[in-house]
Order: sequence, then structure tokens, then C-alpha cells
Amino acid sequence: PKGRVRLPEWLKTDIPVGNNVNSIRKTLRGLNLHTVCEEARCPNIGECWGGGEHRTATATIMIMGDTCTRGCRFCAVKTSRTPAALDPNEPVNVAKALATWGLDYVVITSVDRDDLADLGAGHFAKTVTEVKARAPQMMVETLAPDFQGRDELINQVAVSGLDVFAHNIETVENLQRYVRDHRAGYKQSMHTLEYAKKCRPSLLTKSSIMLGVGEKDDEVLQTLKDLRAANVDIVTLGQYMQPTKRHMKVHEYITPEKYKHWEEVGKELGFLYAASGPLVRSSYKAGEFFIKNILQ
Ligand code: SF4
Ligand code: SF4
Repeated sequence: PKGRVRLPEWLKTDIPVGNNVNSIRKTLRGLNLHTVCEEARCPNIGECWGGGEHRTATATIMIMGDTCTRGCRFCAVKTSRTPAALDPNEPVNVAKALATWGLDYVVITSVDRDDLADLGAGHFAKTVTEVKARAPQMMVETLAPDFQGRDELINQVAVSGLDVFAHNIETVENLQRYVRDHRAGYKQSMHTLEYAKKCRPSLLTKSSIMLGVGEKDDEVLQTLKDLRAANVDIVTLGQYMQPTKRHMKVHEYITPEKYKHWEEVGKELGFLYAASGPLVRSSYKAGEFFIKNILQ
């Protein structure tokens, strides 16, 4: 549609900030670590960091820098063909920081590093291994790049000690070119998910779809079916929000009823868990979902 689509009531939220959030912020600043929660000004920060009814706090840590080699049209992360070199101390620093936080669940994510020979897989895997060595009780989810679909790199991360392997398909097949960087793709992302599961069948795999970018219902259904066919266990669906005026416009605000519908469809298709709602993000209360719905 032309012009801006108005923000519906169900997306207007206050951002609650509790004690836990402030103490985590202080630790973060001291260690020069970045979270997606803060960088993306995620409206769920109070709930995630504060812990939910099961007191399961979750945070999403970004590694491998703040500059991505790709440029997806929905994403606010900076882009460069030649981002800064990796910090070799990062895996250990992240592990030390996380071990002192008392989080139950952490999501480790990164920018894409197409500039590196191993696309960052070694650094990513090392971070997970270090974290698990220092905080074995903490569940670790990685929200990883596609590693260009390269089996040996996917394997390296899949066997690094993590619990949940997430990689986002982002949108339906027909809109991949419009929404994502040209080096990303539907089949490549499906392969990354499917192969990670093959490497370690006990891993839970997870993917996320943004709605409101112009997709049709039958295309969403097909994407859900394809994710199941790739043995993906968990799916999340949430509303795309335009981060700045330079980014892709919101095509449509999907109603809460429609999100409910997709949640039902997800369950019918046999996902272990399907979370769907306007404010649901890939990592939204991930720890709580995990403990409430999957471990029990
Ligand atoms: Fe953003 Fe990921 Fe795309 Fe990079 S690959 S631009 S971090 S969505
Ligand atoms: Fe952080 Fe994800 Fe929770 Fe937002 S939904 S606060 S990005 S963990």
C-alpha cells in the first residue's frame, strides 16, 4: 500500500523495565558486550530479562561484531563488505559474563561474516563451547547465519554443545529476494536447518517467519509445511516492524486472530512448539517457552 500503514492498538506497548534489566545493563556495559534486545529496542526486554512466571530470564547476545556483510531490507544492523576483525578473546569473555549473570537461557546470535574463510563458524562454535564449559546448566540457543549452506560449517556449530539451533527463514519463498540479501535464500536456509538436525538429531531446531511483508496465506502455509519437512521442531511467527524510514515498509499489520490461526496450524502440522503473535520475536521469552513446553 501507498504511504504508511497506521500502527494498530495491539502493537502499542510500554516498555517495562525492572531491576533485573538495570543490573544486566550495567554488567553489559562493563564487558563491552552487545545484546539484540537493546540494539533493536525490543519491546519485550522487561519480560525477557526479568523472567516470566517460571522466572526464566532470557537475553540475546550478539557476537562477531556489529557490522554484517549482508544487507537485508528489514534489518537495522550496519553493513560493510569488510567488517572489523574478530576479537579472539570474545568467546572466553562472553562465557565469563554469562556465567556470572544467572540467566537460565541465552540466545547467542551473530551478524553474517561472508568475509571470513570459515564464515565465522569456528568462532561461533568456540563461543558456545566456552559458555557451556563455564555455565553447563544454562540452556544455549544459537540464532546462526546460514553458513552459505556449507555442511562442514553447519556441522561445526551443530556439535559445539548447544541445545537449540535456530536459523530464520524470515519469509515465504516468493519474497526472499525482496526481503533478504541476495546471498540468502529459501532452499539454502532450509538446508542449513535440516542439516544441523542431521548432524545431531537430539538438537532442537527452530525458525522464524516475519509476517506483514506482503506474503499470502497459502505461501505461509507452504513455508510451515516445508519447515516441518526439514524436521524443524519449533516455529515462531511475528509482525514485521519497520526499524527506520530507509527500511522496507510494513505491507500489513496482521491481526491477533490471524496469529492465533497460524499457531493452531503449526500445532496441527506437528511442530513441538509454535509461538505466534504480533510481538513474538525469534527469541521472545525463549527460555520460558523451552522450560514450560518442551522440557516438561
Ligand atoms: Fe541483518 Fe542477519 Fe541480514 Fe545481516 S544477515 S543484514 S544481521 S538479517
Ligand atoms: Fe531480547 Fe529477543 Fe527478548 Fe527481545 S524477544 S528482549 S530481543 S530475548
